[in-house]
Amino acid sequence: MSLRFGRSYLAIPGPSVIPDEVLQTMHRASPNIYEGELIETTESLFPDLKYVAQTTQNVAIYIANGHGAWEAALANMAEAGDTLLIIATGRFGHGWAEMADRLGLQTEIIDFGLKAPLEAGRIEEALRRDKDHKIKAVLTTHVDTSTSVKNDVASVRAALDACNHPAVLAADCIASLGCDDFQMDAWGVDVMVAGCQKGLMVPAGLSFVYFSDKAKEAQKTLSRVSSYWDWLPRIEPEGYYQYFCGTAPTHHIYGLRQALDMIKAEGLNNVFARHRSLAEALWAAIDCWGSDGGTMRMNITDPAHRSCAVTALSLNKPDATRLRRWTEHNAGLTLGIGLGMNSEDDPNADGFFRIGHMGHVNAHTIMGLIGTIDAGLKSLGIKHGAGASEAAAVKIASALL
Ligand SMILES: *Cc1c(COP(=O)(O)O)cnc(C)c1O
Repeated sequence: MSLRFGRSYLAIPGPSVIPDEVLQTMHRASPNIYEGELIETTESLFPDLKYVAQTTQNVAIYIANGHGAWEAALANMAEAGDTLLIIATGRFGHGWAEMADRLGLQTEIIDFGLKAPLEAGRIEEALRRDKDHKIKAVLTTHVDTSTSVKNDVASVRAALDACNHPAVLAADCIASLGCDDFQMDAWGVDVMVAGCQKGLMVPAGLSFVYFSDKAKEAQKTLSRVSSYWDWLPRIEPEGYYQYFCGTAPTHHIYGLRQALDMIKAEGLNNVFARHRSLAEALWAAIDCWGSDGGTMRMNITDPAHRSCAVTALSLNKPDATRLRRWTEHNAGLTLGIGLGMNSEDDPNADGFFRIGHMGHVNAHTIMGLIGTIDAGLKSLGIKHGAGASEAAAVKIASALL
């Protein structure tokens, strides 16, 4: 027998749960791409994308996933031979650095390991050593989806300002946009990359490069910029096709329009508060499972440094993989793999997994997830403390007081 038949739940850190409203609005005939409604709908996206990132500056849209946004951002920030300072707090920082290497950029990486947030003091030291201002850009990850650490991006701006360093500050918000508070303008971020398939609840296919007026000016000093990735025509097109350098992503435009309407109707601060309350309920459950000799451990111990969109955690290997398989095959709940957590002792990261709790999730989705993991632990005989659902329920009840 299996208990998986019914609506499945993909609880991985992207792609996230797609609201029915988004799917339904995408289920339609192709619109005219030369005039009419599609053009207006496209233009309506820009102010709302800026609202979500708390910026009044610029945003370009690409038909791409997050990796495409990484490449687009690099193409507009630097050219072969330029130096970038890259802050790694998990797999994704290294991923962006590898892409920069392949473009012929010089990368200097400051690695904070797999369990800790960035520390601005070390970044400031590196910037002070760069007396000739060779570093063109500092690349950070707001939330690293592999470790689930959340970084203080504003502290990197403070480090740049403290030594009057002119480099642009770039942030990867692919996992955090629309989940964790991110204030592009207030925090002095020049370039920000995001995708539509995480906090923005749309199937993968669109990504965004936000850029400050300063980054826009800096781009003009490059000797050349790839015509496909160039962000300028995408914000100041002479013809509609230039928004996307070709055919518009027609159905994604409708899906994103719907998702942004849902975010606006809820209110951005309420969206953040919902993610925080649900994350706290989940963390309370995980603390219970890890008590009384239970082996479950959160990767990031300090709640102040945790993302509210994804939680990375461990069990004794291979219990994480056994649990993932159990919840998927028996209960219709898919948990995320332990990404970038391979070690000599655990070459396939069978002791790590991740829970995505981003986007279209509410109290009952998270309570269902907690109850399902609890059943899996029991069925598999994985030692765990009691009271997880109870502790989560108390958190949810108190969040609504
Ligand atoms: C998901 C993610 C990416 C990669 O996005 P893709 O759409 O898979 O290319 C990059 N950075 C972060 C922080 C992410 O969460």
